[in-house]
Amino acid sequence: MDDKSLQILRYYYIVMNDQLDKIKEYVSDVAYNVKNEFSLNLDEIIESEFEKAFEILEEIIEYIEEKYNMNYEKPKLVILENDLLFTAEYSDFENKISFSKKSVDRKIDKQLEYLGYKEIKRGISDIKGIEYLDISYNSIFLYPFYINEKDIRKAIAEAIILSIMFHEIWHSIDFSILRKLVGDSSIKDMDYFIILKNLELRASAFEVVMYYLANGFHNDERGYIPVYANIPICRTYIEKLDILEKNKNTEEYVPYDLGFCYGNIIVAKYGPSLKENIYKIIDDIIHLNKERAIDEIKNYVYNPDKLLHD
Ligand SMILES: [Zn+2]
Repeated sequence: MDDKSLQILRYYYIVMNDQLDKIKEYVSDVAYNVKNEFSLNLDEIIESEFEKAFEILEEIIEYIEEKYNMNYEKPKLVILENDLLFTAEYSDFENKISFSKKSVDRKIDKQLEYLGYKEIKRGISDIKGIEYLDISYNSIFLYPFYINEKDIRKAIAEAIILSIMFHEIWHSIDFSILRKLVGDSSIKDMDYFIILKNLELRASAFEVVMYYLANGFHNDERGYIPVYANIPICRTYIEKLDILEKNKNTEEYVPYDLGFCYGNIIVAKYGPSLKENIYKIIDDIIHLNKERAIDEIKNYVYNPDKLLHD
């Protein structure tokens, strides 16, 4: 073999090796993603977020028990393989929170799609990075979440599950209060009515407030980017609601979105002092009804400067 042939051969060898490295990198990348996708242990995540939520809520539950002189009974957790109408449900009758793994999986896929998975992969070097999820049922409602260095699926799963967990736990708290009130003859029928009528509104407002508190987003200025982005979204929502009411079309009213908007206003209003004011906020949520939620949201979405902190 002459020198030239040898050089060409060497050249091909380098190119081949380089190609091979790229192929190896690609295969390991694909394998990593596939593994990631299938190794997500949703049972474990749901169970651990359930316990985590109760740890975070310990003092709040004690406060409510004391206030209403009642014993709160922690609900059972049931994890289902099959679908539910919603991702999770609370059954008052059985005092049970059910979670559907299939539905959680679908929610994760939806968020990955919303985020653009490739974008996230590129930005992954930012270990304590922040991203924004859209958790609304109907419109848009943005939520901050911290990107886990490598396991984006797991990070999304934890964020979504913890948030929904707070929602379902609030239902169980609400029903405990309701049971206590039913036993109290001094309570007027109207009060039960308010409680039963606004279940989803209150659970959704509580969900947002607790999600910020549990993750510490009230202390991270990047956590307020979605809070402020949600203000005009909530304004549009309220205006749509006004039109629905005028046309007596209230079946289309979505209590979840109203609760999210109300929770968002609370987070914006209290800012970093969210934690110090949590008992005041809990008292407010216990008595929250649709009319008051709408008034309060209007008050801020039309005067957003009221939400600016000194
Ligand atoms: Zn609910």
